[in-house]
Amino acid sequence: MWLLSKNVLPEDKKEEMMQQYIIGNWKMNGTKAEAQKLASGFLKRIQEAERPLPKIVLCPSYPYLTTVFDILKNSPIEMGAQDVFPEKSGPYTGDVSAIQLTDVGCKYVIVGHSERRLHHKEDCALIRKKNDVAIKAGLRPILCIGESAEERKSGKALHVISSQLKSDLPESFSPHEMIIAYEPLWAIGTGHLPSHEEIEEVMGLIKHELSLHVSGGGLVPILYGGSVTAENALGLLELPHVDGLLVGGASLKLDDFWDVINASQR
Ligand code: PEP
Repeated sequence: MWLLSKNVLPEDKKEEMMQQYIIGNWKMNGTKAEAQKLASGFLKRIQEAERPLPKIVLCPSYPYLTTVFDILKNSPIEMGAQDVFPEKSGPYTGDVSAIQLTDVGCKYVIVGHSERRLHHKEDCALIRKKNDVAIKAGLRPILCIGESAEERKSGKALHVISSQLKSDLPESFSPHEMIIAYEPLWAIGTGHLPSHEEIEEVMGLIKHELSLHVSGGGLVPILYGGSVTAENALGLLELPHVDGLLVGGASLKLDDFWDVINASQR
């Protein structure tokens, strides 16, 4: 069980949290030149935009963080990393700390993505520690949770989501310090999405659980992720409980991601 946060939500954060979030997870794709081209392309579109935009966050691979930050640093587009190691420094070959990520301009970090849970055997204890360390360093975790196809078929989806939430979240946090992404494993990169009713049911559950356990928890942004495209984004972003989207494949295509951004409703 998490503790009630004693932090009061700052007024300026409330407004920011009412925006929708469109977050691009580039995963392990592309070259430096491609990262530069994509980031510059988004920047140009942002500068030419004629309507208020949602909060946009790009998450490149580690080697391109500095390259992308140099392009975005004076713009409203923010940057996140795709993972973080839960120690401050030391003999951890190949790992990257939260402080190092903030040092190169990251404000967000994806934590507990199902690809890391699968390929790196990340468990709840590690994920909780990563969330905790990230928040302490001033990074905002985007915690990914979601059920497998089997769990969905056997009617266990809500139970799985609820227990992941309880075991992955840090003991104490303030609502503006976290983002949750509901990403059903069977929807990632497959072209198969849950129905709008199924998404709303899960989002509603997450919001309810957060509001029970964290003061102001109903304000924590909850994103949907999994096979988002330029075509389905509007329908998803119109759902009352959806505060934004975590986008994989479509975030690598300038026009598609721009259409997703323009589908935002707040
Ligand atoms: C993801 O892996 O976070 C994701 C949402 O991927 P895709 O959009 O490609 O399904």
